[in-house]
Amino acid sequence: MAFAYDDQNIFAKILRGEIPNDTVLETAHTLAFRDITPQAPDHVLVIPKGPYATYDHFALAASDDEIVDFTRTVGEVARKVGAQPSEAGGGFRLISNAGEDAIQEVPHMHVHLVAGRPLGRILQ
Ligand code: C5P
Repeated sequence: MAFAYDDQNIFAKILRGEIPNDTVLETAHTLAFRDITPQAPDHVLVIPKGPYATYDHFALAASDDEIVDFTRTVGEVARKVGAQPSEAGGGFRLISNAGEDAIQEVPHMHVHLVAGRPLGRILQ
């Protein structure tokens, strides 16, 4: 059973303009903004505007337009912050915490884009 969506979560309030955010990019279906507790020089949260609690909920319930828009926005954010991988270095990491085991704090689907420093290994 998927989580019911709680429209009082903090990202829903950001989407409604009730709480300010440091926007990096906004499209028809997606908002990208800087995390308030950055773990790297560039730490951007990318969220769909629709009411999806977790990654799987979004991936399975969102429209093709929403999913394409979200995916392209992640790529645009990587370019916009200058984190696109190249022969000269750079790069980024994407993380989406989903549910209790992953310690998802905000129950609105989001992907963290982390960049701007060497990130080390997280999987062995
Ligand atoms: O993946 P998780 O749910 O744990 O991450 C939530 C993220 O939302 C945290 O990195 C936190 O710093 C961020 N946050 C934010 N602005 C808020 C509340 C939380 O950027 N107003």
